[in-house]
Amino acid sequence: MPIDATLPYDEQNIFAKILRGDIPATRVYEDEWAIAIRDIAPQAPTHILVIPRGAYVSWDDFSTRGSEAEIAGFVRAVGAVARAEGLVEPGYRLLANIGAHGGQEVPHLHVHLFGGAPLGPMLA
Ligand code: C5P
Repeated sequence: MPIDATLPYDEQNIFAKILRGDIPATRVYEDEWAIAIRDIAPQAPTHILVIPRGAYVSWDDFSTRGSEAEIAGFVRAVGAVARAEGLVEPGYRLLANIGAHGGQEVPHLHVHLFGGAPLGPMLA
């Protein structure tokens, strides 16, 4: 069920629980600014979610309230995950769903990273 991305941050959302270590996830990367986990329902041979550590609902929330250091750290973390997974060449795709029309289901900002095969013009 897509979320209303204008709602306040919910500390009980699933990625908040994963960040706290309350529930398990397969972590493939972590640094000061972000963690990356394998998506439980992969839509490509490589499907990773990069999740900022800060409590931000959406891209809109992060891009307005996030500090310069958090934003830079998160952008660099996304790139680092792709490099660590060996995806820079032949390439990969980034996607962020935002709000109801974007189809966002988890109300903590995350970027999907897809790769491992030619992905075609768009993922549904
Ligand atoms: O639509 P949205 O961008 O919010 O996607 C949420 C993603 O989180 C889905 O791809 C879903 O498979 C993934 N997920 C996960 N682990 C969970 C819950 C959701 O990888 N425990």
